[in-house]
Amino acid sequence: MANLEDLPLRSDLQGRKPYGAPQLSVPVALNVNENTHRIPEDVAVDIIGRLAAAVLDINRYPDREFTALRQALADYLDADLEVENIWAANGSNEVLQHIFQAFGGPGRKALGFNPTYSMYGLIAQGTGTDYVDYPRLDRYELTPEHIRNAILAERPNIVMLCSPNNPTGTPLSLSCVEATYDAVSEATGGIVVVDEAYAEFGGVTEVSAVSLLPGRERLLISRTMSKAFAFAGARVGYLAADPAVVDALRLVRLPYHLSAFTQAAAEGALAHSARMLATVDDIRYQRDRIVIELKAMGLDPFRSDANFVLFGGLEDSNAVFEALLAKGVLIRNVGIPGTLRVSAGTEAETTAFLEALREVLAK
Ligand code: PMP
Repeated sequence: MANLEDLPLRSDLQGRKPYGAPQLSVPVALNVNENTHRIPEDVAVDIIGRLAAAVLDINRYPDREFTALRQALADYLDADLEVENIWAANGSNEVLQHIFQAFGGPGRKALGFNPTYSMYGLIAQGTGTDYVDYPRLDRYELTPEHIRNAILAERPNIVMLCSPNNPTGTPLSLSCVEATYDAVSEATGGIVVVDEAYAEFGGVTEVSAVSLLPGRERLLISRTMSKAFAFAGARVGYLAADPAVVDALRLVRLPYHLSAFTQAAAEGALAHSARMLATVDDIRYQRDRIVIELKAMGLDPFRSDANFVLFGGLEDSNAVFEALLAKGVLIRNVGIPGTLRVSAGTEAETTAFLEALREVLAK
């Protein structure tokens, strides 16, 4: 067997590390911001029926334009959106990759606000796009002015805004999105991507940049069924944008990239969207409970509009991570010193995490 070093790997990939959140079999897994509730049984039965129907035609390629799925996604997102405004792929990671393939590449630059979702940098690398990490303000916040300064200094072709931000949970105001679009228009005429993977957890404060789409043809809103929709295993992410953007993404996708099973399953889930999202209120409640209880333990949780909480105040975060794991609770060390990140689970999982943490800190 050869080593990686023995292979004629592209020089810009040499020495790089792949995305690698640990996948461990533990009683309480709160590490990758899934919705830890199972989907309702009657919805599962409906989906199975649709998969059974799809298998009868599985000798044929699926609808390359996945029109029925795009219509369902348009209906779910916003009454004013049409099929032509929607794109989808195998997870929003693939949607983001399509964006970088179409609008990034050698000689082009993407900008993100650090710390943010680690895949932005990895997708940039994979597509030969330069990636610049611009630091966030105190407590990971962003302001229109800070964003504007970053864009005018760096002159990016793609700006990545994560709303709310992973791994910090920080909400992002629509005025920040507007300022980003204006500054990029001035600097390079580039693309603005708002990654709303966790948007549904915003609740009463939920602000989707979808409302800003009219008149902004280089604004792209990325969403996913992996989080609030409890559909991570199906791998369905999607995007809302001007129809011309969808035409651009069609140039780089592989033919028939969404399988007939994926399309059928996602259409089934969307036909029951209210039931699929029924756990979101409870997850939000558990998130707020985590914030309150961590503060009571003397820790320092950051404000979060997502289904997870980043918290600081730990002397040795890796030791706490390992001690929790030894108790069967897997959370995430995202590499920010003194912090850990935990997803809000079911009430029982959240209780198990809080109790385990209390025990670990008492030692
Ligand atoms: N964006 C953000 C901010 C995420 O946290 C994730 C998943 N962790 C994704 C996109 C990708 O999710 P998926 O590919 O499952 O849609």
